[in-house]
Parts: sequence; C-alpha cells; structure tokens
Amino acid sequence: MNNIINSTGPAQRPARTIHQEPAPTIYLDYAATSPIDPRVLEKMLPFLSNEGYGYANPASSHAYGKKVAEAIEEARSQVAKLLNVNPATILWTSGATESNNLSLKGVAHFYQRFGKHIITCQTEHPSILDTAAQLSREGFEITYLKPNSQGLIELQHLQAALRPDTILVSIMHVNNETGIIQDIGAIGSLTREREIFLHVDATQSVGKIPIDLQTLPVDLMSFSAHKIYGPKGIGGLYLNDNPRVRLIPQMHGGGQERALRAGTLATHQIVGMGKAFELANAEMDKESRQMLHFRDKLWTGICNLPGVHLNGHPEHRAPGILNVRFETLEKEKVLQHLTRLAFSSASACVSTTTETSHVLRAMGLKNELAHRSFRFSFGRFTTDEDIDTAIDLLTSSPT
Ligand code: PMP
Repeated sequence: MNNIINSTGPAQRPARTIHQEPAPTIYLDYAATSPIDPRVLEKMLPFLSNEGYGYANPASSHAYGKKVAEAIEEARSQVAKLLNVNPATILWTSGATESNNLSLKGVAHFYQRFGKHIITCQTEHPSILDTAAQLSREGFEITYLKPNSQGLIELQHLQAALRPDTILVSIMHVNNETGIIQDIGAIGSLTREREIFLHVDATQSVGKIPIDLQTLPVDLMSFSAHKIYGPKGIGGLYLNDNPRVRLIPQMHGGGQERALRAGTLATHQIVGMGKAFELANAEMDKESRQMLHFRDKLWTGICNLPGVHLNGHPEHRAPGILNVRFETLEKEKVLQHLTRLAFSSASACVSTTTETSHVLRAMGLKNELAHRSFRFSFGRFTTDEDIDTAIDLLTSSPT
C-alpha cells in the first residue's frame, strides 16, 4: 500500500500529494522458489515464439520438429552433466512433485511381487509423505524414520528398519525447511548391500551442492528447475540403468520419454531448465561460498538476541538455508514488523495451512516453538544490503 503524505504548503495553494513508493521487498525465500535468471529467459523465448521453428513438436519427424528435438537433447545433456550421468538416464517431468510420485508409485507397483515394504523419513516433503500415505491405502507398509533432534537420520535406525520385503528407501538430500544434509553416501551403501533401491529427493540440493552419481549410490533422483533459476512446472527424474530401475508409468499416452512419462514435451521449459542447470554447474562453487557468507552474516547478526536458536545441525547444512526460532517473540507481532522481508514462517508448501512444521516437530520441537520458527533462504540475487536490512529489522522486532 502506498503511504500518502499531505505537504503543509501555503494555504492558497492546493495541497500537494506525494505518493511514496513502499520500500522494496527483500526476497529471502529462495528455498520456496527462485526468480528466473535472465539468461534462462533468453534461452526460452524463441520456443514461445511463432517465428522460426521453436513452436514445433519435438516428436514430429519434419525439419522443425527435429530442430526442437535437438534442443531438448542438448538440455538433457546439460542436466546430465551436472549430475555426472549418461543423458539417457534423465526423464522430463512436470517438477519434483511428479518425479517423487512417479518414483514411489512406479517402483512400488513394478516390484510389489518382491515385497510391499517402503522406508522413508518423517521430515520428507509432502510430495513423498502423501504419496507414501496413498501407497499405504493400497496395502503397502511404510516405515517413517524419526530423525534425531538435529534433523539427521541415525544409520542404525535405518539398518534396523530394513527387511527382506523392503523394496525401496526414499530419503531427501537437503531438507527444504532446515537445510539439513543427509548422508546419502552412507545410506546408499546400506541399501546397495541389500539390493534395495534408493530414491533421493534432491530438489533442494541439485545445483547447490556437488552431486556425482558415478560415486553416490542412488537409483532414482528427483529434482526441479524452479529452485535454481529455471521456470516452474518442469523437473526431472534420474533413473539408474545399472542396476536398472523399472517403473510402472503413472501417465499413459503417446509414448514420450520411453513411455515412462507420456505427454508432449514442454519445450520452452525444458530448454530453460537445461540452461539453468548449465549455469548452476558453472557457478556453483562461487555461489555456494556467497550463500554461506549471507547465511553466516545473518546468523551472526541475530544470534545474540534473547531466545534465538538455530534449528538443525550446525554443520550438516546446505549454505542457502537458515532456520531460526525466536523463543520469546510473539509471532504475529514479529510478522507485522517484518512485512518488507519475504521469507517463510512455515514451508511454502504448507503455508496455506495453520499447521506448524511437521519437520521441526519430528525433530522434537514443541508446537509453540515450531510455531515461532522462521526460514530465511538466500540465492543468486541476494546482496549484502539485503542481509544488513534483514538484520536491522530482526534486531528491532517487538518482543
Ligand atoms: N521436494 C522438495 C524438497 C521441495 O522443496 C519441493 C518444492 N517445495 C518439492 C519436492 C516439490 O517440487 P515442485 O515444486 O517442482 O513440484
């Protein structure tokens, strides 16, 4: 809302009205979604235009179709390069929600004759938890591991939960609320020993921390474009070909994506995602140092306030996320004071509900403390001035 200020000029002159623009919003919600990088947008635009060949269907056998198909395969290679895998192991989907659904339901339905037990964790994203709940209604048995108070899965709990009829373990790489990084290497060693498939939701880690699927023992990996400066509504799924993972498709139709995910390819989004992954690959080292700097600067600026605590493990954390609880503050008052800051007072995926975070509660936080927890997340366009302003606002918050 604009502030309207009436000047106190001479009586005979008409009152002058000055429209003061509100101070700009400071965006600290990169874990919810990121702005599109202008270089990504530039790559996408010809595929949204009627000039040239960009509008063609990549499945068409004419020259225009072939050109677009080439652009799709270039994007697949860009995605594959970031993960160090063969491009043929990457499937396009509409985002990580779909990749998670396809992984869990696809594996469960294909391998159910070998067992109906699946293991996941209480702190997963709703697109895993709700899919697991659906599978449980279909007769699958789900074990939900409880993390320790710092958000990490204890390996001995996973080891104890593995059974002869376990067909799949699904564990997220970086948690979207706390930034906690699970030890996927160690988890994967346990699942590989027993020939159980491991699915990893890497939506918050891809492009932000290094991932090398030649060394990481993962069989399926979900990811999305819009967390790393690409467009929304496009994502991918890595499917290991050795050992080969088989899936029952959830979408049937024209046989696209090896008939595992039918539907005309979203060409503009796919080329945008390819570019976003290429940029992430080139800039990850520099960016992760920058995000670490912002995260630590914000934390240093507020950590001495009374009742302020970090949620989650102090070290096993991705650089771009800071989850903090303000134990003595009144949340509603603080939120009113912080309207200039765009951050998350719950995970974006559940912030339309008044429920407190299932992630923080699984880590043992009482409801009222989970309710007073905020997530700040940083990215490519964050500046030092943004963090300075955030510190000023937070340190002057009403109690
Ligand atoms: N998993 C995680 C960890 C996420 O953070 C998100 C996005 N909030 C998703 C899955 C869903 O991704 P998408 O928006 O691409 O469906």
